[in-house]
Amino acid sequence: MNVSYNNKKILSYFLLLLIFVTHETSLAQGQYVEGELIIKLKSKLSSSGFINHSFAGKLSQKGIAVKTSFNKMQMHLLKLPKEQSLNQVMSELSADPEVEFVEPNYILRKADEATSRIQPLSYQQMISTVSNLANGHYTQSRLAVGVDEAWGEMAATVSTRPLVAVIDTGVDYNHTVFVQSNAMWKNSEEIPNNGIDDDHNGYIDDVYGWNFFANNKHPWDDEGHGTHVSGIVVGLGIDIYEQPPRESEFQIMALKFLGADGSGDSASAIQAINYAISKGARIINASWGGDAYSRSLHEAFTRAYEQGIFIVTAAGNAGSNNDNIPIYPSGLPIPGLISVAAANSWDRLASFSNYGVQSVHLAAAGVSVGSLYPNNLYGYSSGTSMAAPFIAGVGALLLRESPQLSGFQLKELILNSVEATEAYSQKLYTSGRVNVLSALRASKAMINAQSIIPGYTPATPARAIASTGNAFSDGAAGGVGGGCGSIQIVRSFMQNQPGTASSHNDTPWGNPQALPVIILMFLPLLFWMFLRRTSSQQSTAEISEFDLRFTQRINVFEQILVKTPNGQFKAHLKNISKGGLAFVVEGKQIQVDEAVSFVFINQNNHEEVEISGRIVWTDDKAMMAGVQFNQLSSYIQSFLLRSYSVPSR
Ligand code: CA
Repeated sequence: MNVSYNNKKILSYFLLLLIFVTHETSLAQGQYVEGELIIKLKSKLSSSGFINHSFAGKLSQKGIAVKTSFNKMQMHLLKLPKEQSLNQVMSELSADPEVEFVEPNYILRKADEATSRIQPLSYQQMISTVSNLANGHYTQSRLAVGVDEAWGEMAATVSTRPLVAVIDTGVDYNHTVFVQSNAMWKNSEEIPNNGIDDDHNGYIDDVYGWNFFANNKHPWDDEGHGTHVSGIVVGLGIDIYEQPPRESEFQIMALKFLGADGSGDSASAIQAINYAISKGARIINASWGGDAYSRSLHEAFTRAYEQGIFIVTAAGNAGSNNDNIPIYPSGLPIPGLISVAAANSWDRLASFSNYGVQSVHLAAAGVSVGSLYPNNLYGYSSGTSMAAPFIAGVGALLLRESPQLSGFQLKELILNSVEATEAYSQKLYTSGRVNVLSALRASKAMINAQSIIPGYTPATPARAIASTGNAFSDGAAGGVGGGCGSIQIVRSFMQNQPGTASSHNDTPWGNPQALPVIILMFLPLLFWMFLRRTSSQQSTAEISEFDLRFTQRINVFEQILVKTPNGQFKAHLKNISKGGLAFVVEGKQIQVDEAVSFVFINQNNHEEVEISGRIVWTDDKAMMAGVQFNQLSSYIQSFLLRSYSVPSR
C-alpha cells in the first residue's frame, strides 16, 4: 500500500486520537486481579498507617472491605463487592480528596525463560555437561567476566554475609547445595514451628522467609524459577558444583509471591518487598515484571531504595526496546535499581534480550546458565531472569568487601566498571557488560567511603503514561522517565524540590545526604568552567548557569572533532551513550587503546565540552571505531547521555 505523507499524517493523528480516547475511557490497563484495588491515602489523614474513621465509613457504604494494609505506606488493598465495577469505583475513589492514588492490583510474571526449560538433571548428569570443571572455579556460564579472578582478590574473612532477598517463585531451601553451604537465611527472632509470631511481624513461624502467594510459612519453590535464580546468586560466591560445597558467602532470603504458574500480583510483591526491608535484606532480586506501571510498586521499591537496598531487575525477554515499550519494575527510574540484559557465550546481546539505551543498564551472562532446581536437581536455563541474579550476586560480592555501601553506590560501581564493546553499543545504557574483577576492585577501594543515598521522589514516568499497553510511545522523547534516576535527582535538586526523605525537614535542598554527591558530581564541570573563565565569577552565578545547562537540551552535531596524540580531525558520530560513542573513522589511522578526546559544542551558546576516552574497538569493514569514556563521574556521564543525543532529522 502506498501511503502518501499527508495520509500518513492523518493516519497518525487518528491513531493518536484513538489512543487518547481508549486511554480516557478505560482506566484500568494491563492485567489485574478482578475486584481488587490498591489505594494510597494522603498521609496527613492517616499518619498511623490505618484508614481513618470517616474514610472507613465511605468504604463500608460502598461495601468495600480492606483486605490488607501496607504498614508505614498509607496504602491498602481493597476488596470490592462482586456487583461493583472496578473502573467505576476507581474513578469515584480517585476523585476523593482524601485519596492520593488508586490503581488495580496488577498481575506480574516471572521473566519467562527464553528457551523451553531443559529437563532437570541429576548432579552426575550435570557435571558431565560442564566443561573445564575444576573445584573452586566458576563454571556456571561460559562467558568469562572475571569471577575466578575476583575470587582470588576477595577479603579472606568478613563479619557478616550479605543478605539477598530472592522475591520469586520461592526457593527449595532443602536443596543439598543450600543446606550444605548454609546458604539459607534463617530468621533468628522466630522459634520454628511453635505456632507463635515470636518477632511480632505478623507472620507465624517465618523461618526462611514467607510465602505471600499462599500466605503460609513455606516459601518452597513449586515452579523452579526461584531456585535457579538463587543458585546463580550463591554461585557468585562459591563453586556450587564442588562437593561438598564450601560455606556460602551470602545468605538467601526466600520470599515467594509467584505461584506455580509463575504469576502473582503487585500487592503480594509489595508485602514481600516490605518483609525484605524489615528483615535487613541488602539486595533484592526481581526476575519478573509486567507491562503496566504500578505506582504502589514504585513506592514500595522506593522505600527499599531509601533503606540502601540494591534492587536488581530483569530487562525482559521479548527482544524489544524498553525505551519504547517499558516493563516494570525494570523501567522504574529509581537511582538504586539496575536493569539487566542477557549476554550470550560470545559476549553479545542474546537475541531474546530486551535492551534500551536509556532504560537497560548493562548485560550479564544469561544464556545456558547452569544452576539448581528443586529436589536436589540441576539444570540450564536462559533469560534475563538468569542475568539479573548474576548482578545480584556481584552486588553481594561488592557488599562483602564494603558492607556500608548503599544500593545506589553498588549500582554506580558496577556500571562504572563495565567492559564496553561494539556488541552492546546503541543497545545498553553503558554499552557494556559486567566485569566482576573491576567491580570488586572498585568496591575494595570504597572500604572507607561513606554510605550515600541521594533523595528521590517517585513520580509516574512520562513514558509510562504515554505507552502503557501500546507501542506508539516515542522513546526519543522519553523525558524524565527511564533508567536515568540520577538525572531526576539533579533536576529535583536544581528545581529545589525536596526529596522524599527530606519531607520532615525544611531544607529546600532535598535530602541533605544528596548535597555532597551533587557537589562531587559537578566538580569536574565546575573545574572545567573555572578554567575556561578569565573573569572571576561568583559561584552562585555558576550554579544558576548549571541550572540552565540541565534544563536545556544540548545537541551534539553529527560532525565531531576528534583529538588524538597525532593531531585532530573531524569525524562522523555514529552513536553516543553514557559509556562512550562510536564514530566513522574515514580513513584515519586509529589503534585500539589509543587515547582520544572529543569536543562537543553546545548549540545554544557555543560552549565547548571536551571528553576524553580510549579506543576500545575498531571495525575495518565498517570503518568505525568505538570509544569508552574515561571514568568521569557517572553522574556526568548520565548527564551526557541525555543531553548530548544526536538530533534527529
Ligand atoms: Ca514472625
